[in-house]
Amino acid sequence: MSQSGSVKLENVVKRHGSFTALQGISLDIRPGEFFALLGPSGSGKTTTLRILAGLESVNEGRVLLDDVDVTHAQPGERDVAMVFQSYALYPHMTVAENIAFPLKMMGTPAATIEDAVQEAAAKVGIGRLLSRRPGQLSGGQQQRCALARAIVRKPRLFLLDEPLSNLDAKLRVDTRAELRRLQRSLGVTTVYVTHDQEEAMTVADRIAVFMEGRIVQVGTPKEVFLRPANAVVAAFIGTPPMNLMPAKLAGGQVRVHGAGLPAGGAHGLGERDVTLGLRPGDLRIADQGIPARVEFIEDLGDSVIAIVTVGDQHMKMRLDQHAVPQEGQQVFLSFAPAAAHLFDRQTGERLP
Ligand code: ATP
Repeated sequence: MSQSGSVKLENVVKRHGSFTALQGISLDIRPGEFFALLGPSGSGKTTTLRILAGLESVNEGRVLLDDVDVTHAQPGERDVAMVFQSYALYPHMTVAENIAFPLKMMGTPAATIEDAVQEAAAKVGIGRLLSRRPGQLSGGQQQRCALARAIVRKPRLFLLDEPLSNLDAKLRVDTRAELRRLQRSLGVTTVYVTHDQEEAMTVADRIAVFMEGRIVQVGTPKEVFLRPANAVVAAFIGTPPMNLMPAKLAGGQVRVHGAGLPAGGAHGLGERDVTLGLRPGDLRIADQGIPARVEFIEDLGDSVIAIVTVGDQHMKMRLDQHAVPQEGQQVFLSFAPAAAHLFDRQTGERLP
């Protein structure tokens, strides 16, 4: 069987009555890719995943797996495995029986099943828990059991819907690194839904950013971080997120609150109203620049976040431990010309 695991969505529209959950989305996912669907709650990520699984029909458009049109194929005909946020383990079955279940349904011989279950359980590190029931497992172990059940039959596509959201913060960080390793070693195309931008940035080869039933940007984590396609994406990616403020371009400079600073890309854009975007880590305290007042200092241990006001607007900046201003102090803010992100004030689209 020559399976490569490519995924294509072409202008997919999904309506629920008069509400349009997906407004014509297109995606091209490459074989072996770890691809994240990222966006706020209600933006259409889960709907997209369920459409790929065949659990949801489409109103318009096509779904192709390995260049074959599966738009109307049943879930069982697609050779995909889905892991839900809730894990959906069978409580009355042991871990081994849960993992074996998909193979049993396919009529695989018992001896083959046993080997496959051992192998899948070992891959996710639960080889010694096979005789337990889900109720006797921790959240992290249940999550591994659900993963083992997904990988046991070597599907061509994994669909993961917020698989880490029930784990505590520390376990989530450890598990996402393991998940990444596991996916690399299996080489199976993986589509991963999350609303956590940090998670998407750390696990994914590429990310599609969803907003209100549309895909607003597709790119590597770096591309999305360094060149957000619009102000909404800019504000959604990064911790703390990018500061956005109204500004004017004139003479190759960006003018904010009476201060004019050179900004990369400002040349050739003429005079116009823009939204200026600056990442917290790109703002500096300088001898001259944008006048600001330090309101509050948050010490995170390895770095410091200062909350400052420029006019009546709050901004966050990341500082190192050595140069922390006093709360209440008046300062000037500056930034490197290349650090300035410029967006059209009306449309929010990136300039130039
Ligand atoms: P979350 O992160 O909260 O799961 P999401 O991005 O996965 O959000 P979806 O679950 O895909 O969002 O939902 C997209 C939109 O479609 C939401 O506004 C949701 O309320 C709506 N929706 C989903 N299913 C139905 C349904 N059966 N009937 C009506 N509206 C629905």
